Amino acid sequence: MKTATQLIHSIPVDELTGAISVPIYQTSTFVQESPGINKGFEFSRANNPTRKVLEDLICNLEEGYAGFAFASGMSAIDAVLKLLKTGDEIMAVEDTYGGIFQIFNHMFERFGIKVNFVDTSNTDKVLAAITPKTKVIWLESPTNPTLRISDIKSVSKIAKQHDILLVVDNTFSTPLLQQPITLGADIVIHSASKYLAGHCDVIAGLVVVNSKPLADQIRYNQNISGSILSPFEAWLTIRGIETLALRLEKQCANALAVAQWLSTHPAIDKVYYPGLATHKNHHIARKQQKNYGGLVSFSLKSDNIKNAIRIVNATKLFKLAESFGGVKSMLAHPATMTHRNIPEDFRKKTGLQDSCIRLSLGIEDAEDLINDLKQALDRLNSPAGKQITVLQ
Ligand SMILES: *Cc1c(COP(=O)(O)O)cnc(C)c1O
Repeated sequence: MKTATQLIHSIPVDELTGAISVPIYQTSTFVQESPGINKGFEFSRANNPTRKVLEDLICNLEEGYAGFAFASGMSAIDAVLKLLKTGDEIMAVEDTYGGIFQIFNHMFERFGIKVNFVDTSNTDKVLAAITPKTKVIWLESPTNPTLRISDIKSVSKIAKQHDILLVVDNTFSTPLLQQPITLGADIVIHSASKYLAGHCDVIAGLVVVNSKPLADQIRYNQNISGSILSPFEAWLTIRGIETLALRLEKQCANALAVAQWLSTHPAIDKVYYPGLATHKNHHIARKQQKNYGGLVSFSLKSDNIKNAIRIVNATKLFKLAESFGGVKSMLAHPATMTHRNIPEDFRKKTGLQDSCIRLSLGIEDAEDLINDLKQALDRLNSPAGKQITVLQ
């Protein structure tokens, strides 16, 4: 079966009633016939039939051994980090998601787990940064917001040689564009709040592992820490995934059209989109991804925060908001929004310019989206922006 078909038919019809939409099993506990004799469910923190449908679905899509659903992407990450112990080290992609930066640096460091940020798009640097204590390599590919790509297969070979777990945050690509486990990763995590649920109406996280020992540990962490996804949010996420293939196709097409148009605009300095031949890591993206995703970032020739704010305040269709992956187009200014807690020198080191704007393409008409950006960029030529105040 092709992925688009598999996606729809991995969602079972309810055996009990024939319901074609997955029932929301809103129950905390399950009646047992005799102690230990039950229908596979005992208590909803440990397992719930609605959540199980989602967990099996993401496991199928990522071609893993088992899947797990959490209350958020961050709680999914938390459950994976609890595989580690004091003294262990993590090597992480340097321009990692802001929340990951926080949980590594300000939370797990207090428990004696150290993190080392490395430019993982360069495999020589990955090899050079390994220490005897490195237990996990943490990749995002593409990264946020400059969409750098790491070669997952090459990094996985290095990880295997050194007995290190490879974790890939696949939020940006979804399993329809990239399947890290088939490229050698041990664990895949998702913020399902983005493309998978797809309508900006749910916070959810997923983990997929490639082996039974890892599945046993993550199941234990999920049950004992208890940050599980509720039956209703699981149902919303399943419902979102049903249309993922359609949505993503349109979002990728819109992203390419916008990236190409931005590349020709005189006010634009850099356009970041892995689908453009001018992107630094285009050759790796072409090899490991089926398409290039719905996010595009760009910076201005007049590289300053004020100009970026004039633009993000001026768009009408692109809504100013954190997050991405919904059906409505959105934009964000990382330096003052998603990345404002990341120290400026670190931001500069990873190449994040003050004027960088990140676009999340929705499913609207590409020409309307381009016209919206055009009228916003035209504001750079008007004097009105002098009154803008920048909140730092
Ligand atoms: C949003 C996001 C997360 C965190 O997920 P939440 O659902 O917001 O908790 C983790 N990784 C990436 C790449 C994200 O974009």
